[in-house]
Amino acid sequence: MKEVILVKNGELALKGLNRRSFEDMLMANIRRRLASLGKFTCTPAQSTIIVEGPEDADLDEATDRLLKVFGIAGLSRAAAVEKDMDVILKTTPVYLSEALKNASTFKVEAKRADKTFPLKSPEICCDVGEAVLNAFPHIRVDVKNPDLTIVIEIRENAAYIHGDQKKGAGGMPVGTGGKAALLISGGIDSPVAGWMMAKRGVVLNAVHFASPPFTSPMSEMKVHDLLAKVAKYSGTIKLITVPFTEIQENIRDKCPEELFTLIMRRYMMRISNILAEKEGCEAIVTGESVGQVASQTLTAMMSTDSVSRLPVLRPLVGMDKNEIVVISRKIDTFDISIRPFEDCCTVFTPKHPRLHPKPEEIEKAELSLDSDALISRAVEGVKQELITF
Ligand code: ATP
Ligand code: MG
Repeated sequence: MKEVILVKNGELALKGLNRRSFEDMLMANIRRRLASLGKFTCTPAQSTIIVEGPEDADLDEATDRLLKVFGIAGLSRAAAVEKDMDVILKTTPVYLSEALKNASTFKVEAKRADKTFPLKSPEICCDVGEAVLNAFPHIRVDVKNPDLTIVIEIRENAAYIHGDQKKGAGGMPVGTGGKAALLISGGIDSPVAGWMMAKRGVVLNAVHFASPPFTSPMSEMKVHDLLAKVAKYSGTIKLITVPFTEIQENIRDKCPEELFTLIMRRYMMRISNILAEKEGCEAIVTGESVGQVASQTLTAMMSTDSVSRLPVLRPLVGMDKNEIVVISRKIDTFDISIRPFEDCCTVFTPKHPRLHPKPEEIEKAELSLDSDALISRAVEGVKQELITF
């Protein structure tokens, strides 16, 4: 008996060309994500993709990986057998014995894509139900609310037998939604923001501003570790680290203290725009949410947006911190985010940041900086690396 993984596509509302490119991208992502486990093939069949690996493939690991691939609504491991009723009746109780032992009630569903199969769906259900009842006398049939649903799918090339489907990561396949530059700090929010955009099919590039020696190599390590977790969902992420010390020192020495954070953010935005455009990104993504800290007022967001040519996406904008934390735990970034290392933003935090500075004040303060030279030195000093899953 061969075992395969049946993947159910998400976003069922997609139509026509969209649907086709969704499926092609999803299959490419699945093959890429499983490549290090052996050669897997993907065969599309209606709203299902049949994923088959080599004889000795590690299907536990493959399943874990696929549960993190966006565009998958659900998946199940299935026994692939000959389209022969005797084989199906023999295999079902054996293949699903573990689940059947743990269930008190079950039902059988049959899907007959191959209309030439001699038995009709109700007959298949009836015969399989009987075989299960004979093999497991403790179990009862419950068609309304069963502990276990056994599915028999009769398809073109084989019959597939499986139990309950696992819920997939949902969303759109990464690569169908363009590319964006994620501003990543070592905090809780930005990795979650990146994950949310990847969920909508967006390829991520990441930009991190580091200010050594004020920030330690451990903070950069933290960013690596965070992106490695996000990459399990988004696929490979190109990380660009920008040397930010000189700009921050200039701001500290030449600008009014209560405007530090905002001016620093505007420089981050200007530099990110240059880097993002070079990489072909169509948007900037941040982990900001309204009101969380002084620099996240609408006034502040307007001020940073005004120096950005690209749209600034803030997927967490209306979320509470505890809602963000729930996601960060789910994607396993939380414990990394709370490691105690300095971020460049916390190094020069003003004691009394201005909540509603006027645009003219900020622009006037920035006149004391040699902006073009500072920005081009920072852009020239960037370091690039690929973070893979
Ligand atoms: P986070 O938890 O993502 O650090 P935060 O609540 O600490 O967010 P801020 O420190 O004000 O908020 O940062 C707001 C956003 O600015 C971050 O979500 C991130 O997108 C960006 N950002 C902050 N610091 C950096 C940095 N050092 N490099 C790149 N982006 C940064
Ligand atoms: Mg932060």
